[in-house]
Amino acid sequence: MDLWLDLLNSDWHDYRGSGRREDRVQVPEWLHRYTTRWKQSLTGVSESSIRTELKDLRILLRGIVDRLASGRRVPRRLWDRLNDVLAAAPISRRLVRSPGGFALDLVPVQRGIAGMVAEIAASFCRTLAESEPDRIKVCDNPDCLWVFYDQSKNRSRRWCESATGCGLLMKVRRFRGRRKRASARRHGS
Ligand SMILES: [Zn+2]
Repeated sequence: MDLWLDLLNSDWHDYRGSGRREDRVQVPEWLHRYTTRWKQSLTGVSESSIRTELKDLRILLRGIVDRLASGRRVPRRLWDRLNDVLAAAPISRRLVRSPGGFALDLVPVQRGIAGMVAEIAASFCRTLAESEPDRIKVCDNPDCLWVFYDQSKNRSRRWCESATGCGLLMKVRRFRGRRKRASARRHGS
């Protein structure tokens, strides 16, 4: 899964409508799993500042994604802030040789928290630049709001999981709504 998608969906809402929410950035197990790849460069950085940085980035990305997904204009200040995040952690290139051939490595010049935040931001920018931004969607279930990348052929997916989860739930709700309306008609109200 993409780093940016994982971060956005760490702000979890109960799709069944209980109103329950869980900010997974606050959950130690989630945070540990998510930040494992930066473990070395984050040595000495406090967990609370990691959480703060992740949440700030999540707010920024969510602001952009919500607007993109609903066809609204993204204000320039948000794009500028995204570029600021990238600029705070420059990278250098290095050619790596192996028996299998060559690889061009991108090496962070700066380590630490700025590098982590920039890498997550870059994963989002890569989706914008190399995939199709109009496939980025927010689940239509207002209780859910899960963010996903619509891989369907005709880009018609509206819910985070079509077969189970919200897709099924919304189907049941539509069915119940129809039945209620039909029985209201039958009873002449
Ligand atoms: Zn959903």
